[in-house]
Amino acid sequence: MPDYDVIVVGAGNAALASAVSAKENGAERVVVLEKAPREMRGGNTHWSGGVLRFAFDEPEEIGPLVPNASEEIENFYEGIMPYPREDYHGDLMRVTGGRTDPVLSRILVDNSKDTVFWMNEVGKVPMEPALSLSAVKRDNKVIWARGLVVRAKHEGVGLSKSWFKTAEAMGIEIRYGTAARSLVQGDDGRISGVKIRDNEGVKTLTAHAVIMGCGGFEANVQMRTQHIGVNIGGAKVRGTPHNQGDGLKMAMDVGAMPWGQWSGCHATPISADWGEFAPREMTDRSNRLSYVYSVMLNRKGKRFVDEGEDAALFTYAKFGRAILAEPGAKAWQIFDSKVLHLLEPRYSTSDPIVADTLEDLVDQLDFEDPKQALATLKEYNEHGRDEDEGYDPSRKDSLATKDGLELPKTNWALKLDKPPYHAYSATGGITFTFGGLKITEDAQVVGTDWRGIDGLYCCGEMVGGLFYDNYPAGTGLVSGATFGRIAGRSAAQAAAEAAGKAKAA
Ligand SMILES: Cc1cc2nc3c(=O)[nH]c(=O)nc-3n(C[C@H](O)[C@H](O)[C@H](O)COP(=O)(O)OP(=O)(O)OC[C@H]3O[C@@H](n4cnc5c(N)ncnc54)[C@H](O)[C@@H]3O)c2cc1C
Repeated sequence: MPDYDVIVVGAGNAALASAVSAKENGAERVVVLEKAPREMRGGNTHWSGGVLRFAFDEPEEIGPLVPNASEEIENFYEGIMPYPREDYHGDLMRVTGGRTDPVLSRILVDNSKDTVFWMNEVGKVPMEPALSLSAVKRDNKVIWARGLVVRAKHEGVGLSKSWFKTAEAMGIEIRYGTAARSLVQGDDGRISGVKIRDNEGVKTLTAHAVIMGCGGFEANVQMRTQHIGVNIGGAKVRGTPHNQGDGLKMAMDVGAMPWGQWSGCHATPISADWGEFAPREMTDRSNRLSYVYSVMLNRKGKRFVDEGEDAALFTYAKFGRAILAEPGAKAWQIFDSKVLHLLEPRYSTSDPIVADTLEDLVDQLDFEDPKQALATLKEYNEHGRDEDEGYDPSRKDSLATKDGLELPKTNWALKLDKPPYHAYSATGGITFTFGGLKITEDAQVVGTDWRGIDGLYCCGEMVGGLFYDNYPAGTGLVSGATFGRIAGRSAAQAAAEAAGKAKAA
C-alpha cells in the first residue's frame, strides 16, 4: 500500500481546494506538501486581494455569500449589475484576443458561481463585499464593477487561513518545509509518488495519485528571462518567492505538455519604491491602479499607453509589462486635485511628490527630458476635457481626449488643471505567469504524446491556456478553486480505482 491515497503539491488556493475536494470525494489519506516554512505558507494566495470574479444573473443571487451586505451598505443590490455567463466569457475572450482555451474557459465560467459557493460552504471561506477595490460611489450610491462584488473576508490572508483551517479540520496532513523535487513514474507510465526534500534530507513519498498546484515561475529570474524576456527578467515580484517553476519542470520531465502562453504573464503597475520581492505583511498593497485618472509619463517625458483604454481591472494586468518596456522600467502617474479622492487606498503606502504647478512638479521628478515631460502635459491639457462634459468615474464614460493627440486617452480624459498636483512612481511587478501545462476537462495532465498521464493532475497557475497577454481581475482564484475542485475529485476517483485494482490483484 502506498504512503497516501493522494499527494497534493503546493498549499495555495488551488492546491488546498484540491485537497479538500479529494477528501470530500472519498480519499482518506491526503497530504499537502508545502515547500515554504509554516510562517511563509500559502503562496500567492496569501498575498492576493482575495477578489472573486463569477457569473450571476440577478444581484440577489450573491446574498447568501454576504448576508450582512445590505445592512452595511445602503442600497447594496441597486449598484450591482447582472453578470451573466456570456458576459464573463466575453470579457475573457476580449482581453485575451480570442485565444483563451475554448474548453477550459467554458468550464471556468460555467462553474464560477458554484465554485465560489462551494468555497464558502465546504471550504468554510467567509466572504465580504470587495468595497475598497471594485466599487465607486456616485450620488451616494455604491456602483460595483461587473462580476467583481465579492472577495474572501480579510482578502488573501483570510482566504489562505480559512483553507488551512478547513484542511486541518478534515484530517488532511500538511507538511511544511517540504519541497517536491521530482515525480516518480512506474514502468506502466503511472505517477506513483513524489521525491521530496525536507529538513531531514531527500526521500520518496508514494501515492495512488498526485495533484500539482505549486504555482508558476514568476519568482524564477532565469525562467522569466528565458521565456518572457529581459524586461520581465528585471521585474519585481508581487507575491511569494517560492513559485520557481518547480512543478512545471517536474511535470515536463515525465512528459507533460507545455500549454498556453509561456511568453506571457500578469504584471501590474506597482510602486517603484518597493524591493525585489513584496513583503509578506504588505500583501497586495504595492499596486498603483488608479492610473485611469492620471496622465502616465515615461522617463523620457512621453505617454506610452492609453491610460483610459478600459476600466483598470481590465488593463492593469498588461500595463505593468508596458512600464517594464520603458526606459528605466519606470513611469510617473500624475494626478490633479479633482481626482485625488478616487485614488485606491493602497496609494497611502507611499508619499506622493506634490507641487502647485506642473513646472514645479516636473522639476522634482527624475525625467531624462523634463522639457519633453512638460510639453507632453501641456499638449495633453490642450486636448483634455472638463468635468461638465460628461465625466463619470463609475463607468467607462467615453470622455476621450479631443482629436489630434497622437496617443488618445479614450475615457476619463480630464485636463490636469486643479493644483496641487500629485505624482506617484510606478514600475512593473510580476504577479503570475500564463504558461502552464495542458490538462483535460478532468484536470488530468496531458503528455506530449497527447495522452493523459495516469495518476497526475494539476490546477491553479500551473494550468496553461486560459490567459494570453492580459487577464480580467479576480479570475485567478476562481480558476484555481474550480480546477482544484475538479482535480481533487478526479484524483480521489483514480485513487479509489487504483486501490481497488491493487486489492483484486
Ligand atoms: C499581490 C497579488 C494580488 C492578487 N490578487 C488577486 C485577487 O484579488 N483575485 C484573484 O483572483 N487573483 C489574485 N491574484 C492571483 C492569485 O493570487 C493567483 O492566481 C492564485 O493565488 C494562484 O493560486 P495557486 O494555488 O495556483 O498558487 P499559489 O497560491 O501561489 O500557491 C503555490 C504553492 O505552491 C508551493 N510550492 C511551490 N513550489 C513547490 C514545490 N516544489 N514543492 C511544494 N510546494 C511548492 C508554494 O509555496 C505555494 O504554497 C493576486 C496575486 C498577487 C501576487
